Amino acid sequence: MEASFYIKESAEQYDAIVVGSGITGGWAAKELTERGLKTLMVERGRPVEHGVDYLGENKAPWVMPNRGLVDAKVAEEQYPIQRQCYAFDEHTKHFFNNDRDMPYSTPEGRPFSWIRGNQLGGKSLMWARQSYRWSDLDFEANLKDGHGVDWPIRYADLAPWYSHVERHVGISGGKEGLDVLPDGEFLPAFDFNSVELAMKRKFDARHAPARMIMGRTANLRTATEAQQAQGRVQCQARHQCQRGCSFGAYFSTQSSTLPPALKTGRLRIATDSIVHSVIYDPKTNRATGVRVIDANTLATREYHARVVLLCASTLASTAILLNSTSGAFPTGLANSSGVLGHYLMDHLFGAGASGRVEGFEDDYYQGRRPTAPYIPRFRNVLERHPAFLRGYALSGGAGREGWQSAAAKPGFGKDFKAMIRKPGPWYFSLGGQGEMLPRYENMVSLHPTKKDKWGMPLLHIDCSYSDNDRRMQNDIADTSASILEDLGVKDVKKHLRTLEEWPPGLSIHEMGTARMGRDPKTSVLNGHNQAHDVPNLFVTDGASMASSAWQNPSLTFMALTARACAYAVDELKAGRI
Ligand SMILES: Cc1cc2nc3c(=O)[nH]c(=O)nc-3n(C[C@H](O)[C@H](O)[C@H](O)COP(=O)(O)OP(=O)(O)OC[C@H]3O[C@@H](n4cnc5c(N)ncnc54)[C@H](O)[C@@H]3O)c2cc1C
Ligand code: SF4
Repeated sequence: MEASFYIKESAEQYDAIVVGSGITGGWAAKELTERGLKTLMVERGRPVEHGVDYLGENKAPWVMPNRGLVDAKVAEEQYPIQRQCYAFDEHTKHFFNNDRDMPYSTPEGRPFSWIRGNQLGGKSLMWARQSYRWSDLDFEANLKDGHGVDWPIRYADLAPWYSHVERHVGISGGKEGLDVLPDGEFLPAFDFNSVELAMKRKFDARHAPARMIMGRTANLRTATEAQQAQGRVQCQARHQCQRGCSFGAYFSTQSSTLPPALKTGRLRIATDSIVHSVIYDPKTNRATGVRVIDANTLATREYHARVVLLCASTLASTAILLNSTSGAFPTGLANSSGVLGHYLMDHLFGAGASGRVEGFEDDYYQGRRPTAPYIPRFRNVLERHPAFLRGYALSGGAGREGWQSAAAKPGFGKDFKAMIRKPGPWYFSLGGQGEMLPRYENMVSLHPTKKDKWGMPLLHIDCSYSDNDRRMQNDIADTSASILEDLGVKDVKKHLRTLEEWPPGLSIHEMGTARMGRDPKTSVLNGHNQAHDVPNLFVTDGASMASSAWQNPSLTFMALTARACAYAVDELKAGRI
């Protein structure tokens, strides 16, 4: 990336400021610049250049100083939270936030794991790319069961924007015709292995209308001409995506949204610039820019624009609003409703089952795949489950025990070597991802006294699972086990992680805290992600979500962002904001 796009001090009046450069910030920059707006992207982290700063890419464990694992002392002292994430290792450590530098607080006994990637590209560099549309089952859930406020939009509002982002991102998946999981603009799906195919056939026949499908993922199974023109090529299925991919074969800010935004010539980027607060003018009731602390020098500066979009990730965007106090908004900008910070959600992970598959001894496969089989929601679709509201998806798949398992087995010598040359049995596992209900008491606030090294108040996160959440988790484990047994899997074992093993936040799908809604008295944003109180202020990341549904959320964040940007540009051009 050319250094000329980077700025520090700037007296310029931009059309738009986008705070954050992750999945939503990248999309906002692309949409706004392509629609003609001179845009400044403000990012708290350092620059990361595509193909240059992917330090762990293509490196085998044996060339890494610590064989791929982060030194235990460093992990414990500097990354006690981030190390809980499955993707955190020696190849990826530099993409994760250093917890010692960026603390937050939680109440005693109520842990929350806040996984962050504070660099240009945000978490788009490490995400697992699972990408699913929502349906009206999800958008109508709050209205129907009374938990949370009614979404101000429905599937029809978002469908064209899902298509818009999918065509650009490149989502591999199959058209299935399922009501609960609308089809999209797909590239070819990845393949099942032979055991999965056999299980899928059995499952589809016995559990219809539920279906086992291949997980939809933002990896280019094939690259369209448009994607190739962006410098992206077909995925090589190395499944090391969280290290960064110079092929540009998975969607990230660097591979997919920054290049077209920069191509317009209308984007400037300020990195190492921590947004402290949004500047608000009470005379015009408009946001006029952002106050920034330089991450390296602690110097402060301001940037100004006609419209401000917060895309700093769910909790960081809300923290900025909470920190933007004034006479008109003493508890946080755009918080006349008093719900800013409330209704925090994540997904329910950590429950499932696995077991051994007999047979298929002659079937073997080699290589990796950047996704896995997936069973979309079937609970509370046609029938009402007696124990809990809402639903979950299951994902998992089959794998064959390889030589690596010998590391944990006793033995040595010729016989041992001969034994590990033969592949072991097949295993099949399933794990759930469930919907957490939106609840007022799950919330974030600014710590009254504690500050970080930049002088920013710490975020205090108070989040816990409800009885509904726990009952759903139990059902995920029980149902996973009964599905596997029904499919003929042997020695099935359930797993259900404890709160300590899987605290809220660790699913890395945090949502809510500046929710959308129809009524300004009970929500922060309207149906276009626009603050009810301040018309030229938008929040388009996960903070805006009024419920969490059961699907991985980032595709929905992208569609909401693209839609909000088109609306903001129209409103700006019409002189209404
Ligand atoms: C390992 C992993 C696997 C995941 N798998 C999936 C998946 O399969 N599917 C899915 O849908 N989602 C997945 N996610 C979640 C997904 O990454 C997030 O939902 C998504 O990145 C959110 O986009 P965002 O733009 O809101 O935030 P981010 O991508 O986190 O970007 C936010 C940016 O804002 C910057 N920022 C924060 N505060 C400030 C500030 N005060 N001033 C300036 N800049 C600031 C940050 O540095 C960051 O660059 C996964 C995440 C991880 C870590
Ligand atoms: S699996 Fe595909 S997207 Fe992921 S690192 Fe390999 S080539 Fe890149």
